[in-house]
Amino acid sequence: MTTDPTTGTASGWDQAVFRCGRCGAELTATTEDNYRRVVGVHTDAHALWDRLNPIEREGLASILRVILAAPDLGTEFLALMDRANQADTRGTPHTQETHR
Ligand SMILES: [Zn+2]
Repeated sequence: MTTDPTTGTASGWDQAVFRCGRCGAELTATTEDNYRRVVGVHTDAHALWDRLNPIEREGLASILRVILAAPDLGTEFLALMDRANQADTRGTPHTQETHR
């Protein structure tokens, strides 16, 4: 039987498990880059968590549930927001300006 570790990854490991000391989450990564990204995102999530109070966490969580269920909605909402902000800085709101 040949045990050949070269399964597409240059580093030679199939997967690695990151276990978070703070929340106990276990995250599995299949490449070294993926591992760094997974751990980085998890660390960022903790940093964000630490900045928010419990009410803000609830608010953000409910927003994220909406956005993550419909990412296009989030994109469109931001586009609307940018358009509204541009209108504000130009000082000309787009509401009923051009009727007689
Ligand atoms: Zn954690």
